[in-house]
Amino acid sequence: MTKTILITGGGRGIGAACALLAAEQGYRVCINYRSDDAAASHVVRTIEDGGGEAFAIRADVAQEAEVERLFALLDARFGRLDALVNNAGVLAPQMRVEQMDAARIGRIMATNVVGSFLCAREAVRRMSTKQGGSGGAIVNLSSRAAVLGSPGEYVDYAASKAAVDALTIGLSKEVAGEGIRVNGVRPGLIHTQMHADGGEPGRVERLQSSVPMGRGGAPDEVARAVLWLLSDAASYTTGSFIEVSGGR
Ligand code: NAP
Repeated sequence: MTKTILITGGGRGIGAACALLAAEQGYRVCINYRSDDAAASHVVRTIEDGGGEAFAIRADVAQEAEVERLFALLDARFGRLDALVNNAGVLAPQMRVEQMDAARIGRIMATNVVGSFLCAREAVRRMSTKQGGSGGAIVNLSSRAAVLGSPGEYVDYAASKAAVDALTIGLSKEVAGEGIRVNGVRPGLIHTQMHADGGEPGRVERLQSSVPMGRGGAPDEVARAVLWLLSDAASYTTGSFIEVSGGR
């Protein structure tokens, strides 16, 4: 049986790299994204051109009804789910905590925390051997920000990733006896468009001298850690984290 994978936020950046690598490894791939139809279609076409199978679903993971629709469409197309990558994540323009309002903090938490919970919930309902599933694996995209705190930039984002870490630890223990492994990856400074959303497209270049390895990372370098955690090679690994940060 060919394995299936859902990658949230798979239209670009780290999610797109995970989608391409998963297809290379033989997964049937479902890419979720929020708004950029062209980017998601490009990832699907690239996978299809390489002989793989992929489709894309536009849905906001922060909205419960949209997450339920996403998983219903996934059921209709694949009929099973073996792997989930909770990758969709957002940040907001850099500022100090005393400048933040509730709406901004709420937007970050809605996608990064609530979205990860909702997608994990739907995945567990399908994967759990206690609920008739065949088991599976979940990887949550955290961040080194969860440990470093992102002072002066986005402490709200860092806090959302610390919540994702707690989700990873707690859920891994809840479902360990039901055939599901749950792990996290904490990327450091990775070259993606996300930094432009924080108001500083050149952020990786500015900070790369603080990285012991002296450079930012590529999305593909994160994807390799994600796909390893999902694979049978990681069969005894759950509730764990891989730092993909060049030592920072
Ligand atoms: P990115 O380039 O900004 O891409 C984000 C992806 O998430 C896009 O496909 C976007 O869709 C999708 N997305 C955003 N909000 C969504 C929502 N509410 N519902 C569904 N999809 C949504 O991000 P990235 O840099 O690849 O980061 C991927 C993950 O790694 C994130 O969780 C991020 O926090 C984490 N991370 C990144 C870095 C880094 O340096 N880049 C470091 C540490 C951790 P649209 O394009 O359609 O809007």
